[in-house]
Amino acid sequence: MSSPDAHPFHDRERVISFAVERARRYLAKVNDLPVAPRSTEVQSIEQLCGTLPGEPEDPSTVVSMLDEFGSPATVASAGSRFFGFVQGGTLPAALGASWVVSAWDQNAALYVMSPVAAELEQAALRWTCELLGLPAECGGAIVTGATMANFSALAAARHFVLTRTGWDVEAQGLFGAPPINVVVGEEVHVSLLKALSLLGLGRDRVTRVPVDKQGRMRTDALPALNEKTILCLQAGNVNTGAFDPANEIIPLAHKAGAWVHVDGAFGLWAAASPKHRHLVTGYSQADSWATDAHKWPNVGYDCGIAIVREHSNLRAAMVVSAADLASSDHREPSHYTPEASRRARGVELWAALRSLGRSGMAELVDRTCKHARRFAAGLSSAGYEVLNDVVINQVLVSFGAPEITTSVVRRLQEEGTCWCGSTVWQGRTAMRISVSSWATTDEDVERSLAAMLQIAADCKKVSQYI
Ligand SMILES: *Cc1c(COP(=O)(O)O)cnc(C)c1O
Repeated sequence: MSSPDAHPFHDRERVISFAVERARRYLAKVNDLPVAPRSTEVQSIEQLCGTLPGEPEDPSTVVSMLDEFGSPATVASAGSRFFGFVQGGTLPAALGASWVVSAWDQNAALYVMSPVAAELEQAALRWTCELLGLPAECGGAIVTGATMANFSALAAARHFVLTRTGWDVEAQGLFGAPPINVVVGEEVHVSLLKALSLLGLGRDRVTRVPVDKQGRMRTDALPALNEKTILCLQAGNVNTGAFDPANEIIPLAHKAGAWVHVDGAFGLWAAASPKHRHLVTGYSQADSWATDAHKWPNVGYDCGIAIVREHSNLRAAMVVSAADLASSDHREPSHYTPEASRRARGVELWAALRSLGRSGMAELVDRTCKHARRFAAGLSSAGYEVLNDVVINQVLVSFGAPEITTSVVRRLQEEGTCWCGSTVWQGRTAMRISVSSWATTDEDVERSLAAMLQIAADCKKVSQYI
């Protein structure tokens, strides 16, 4: 009889080297793939689905199938010409760290389960606060993304506001609680509304403040605020990249006794760059912040960060029992997060920030913003209308009538050189370009711009015949 180690199911080393080799090959070729997968490749994913095998399969075969049928069907967002949504790639250090962390199989819920995960997470949070220019006394949590970061920070806000009225929301829920007024900008990100709905604060129960042409909250249009208000600002509009005027609004809100939360999923990272730091002036005065590491800092998914100035509010919102509240010698990660068991995603953030350093993060922000400005200049000098002030890494462009813009976006996606999505900005159909990846080079920008201009010219020609 063979030993368990001889069974292919246990042949870990072989599988690991095989997987690394396949991943290496994938990344070496990712820029040769069409950025959006072709439909035939997407159909081939079926080969991986089907019925559950009755018997074990060789793990190398499993990984090999994944690469054979899965890799060609991927969206090439790990490449250098994906400009959709606001995504970013994965820095080499973050990718390497994620492999090591997967091998470690640490549970980052409690210190005793993984001192290394707990310590590196805390260091990564501290470095993040430093880069974002936030006060050193802040505490935080590493969660799956900005949606959960908004959720966690707003849970802290909810705790703070209701505790002041003598209401214990964690114990009693919201039935019968004094009402909280939530104020958001007209251009609030849907994920923040989702967070409010999960917290029982209701996505339609909000007061929406009118915005200007860039999507910035208008200070002159603020409603009355008081100590039962949670005011949510945005640092980095997902379309225009614009910033709410925090420096004007936060002092007013604080004078009224309101809690100020900031959704800064990508925009807050402008603080890391001396050239762009002026955009976040005033934001450090807020009470809580949500941001993403999987966007501008180019950490892999899933990695979001909630930061709270008086972090006892976050802790009070997240701890589940009196025993949890007993003092411990160490920070317990799960006392600040919605989750209990979770992977050590803070290690990837640690690795990304360690590999970039302060100057690397600044340079990443500046470089991607420079690429965005080049796109805007190239498109507008060809006669197309750029709809936003390009203050950071986001560009909105119209190619003319809505149908023409829509067909340019569709044909660009089909052509495969690069990938941009479409959006509607204040009633105008636009193509949105977000330059968020560390991997994008000047050459990628020129090549993508040429494809955009060629396709736009073709679409214009076709439209003249209809
Ligand atoms: C991306 C984004 C979110 C949502 O982030 P996830 O990481 O996808 O949960 C929230 N707010 C803004 C402004 C964003 O750009």
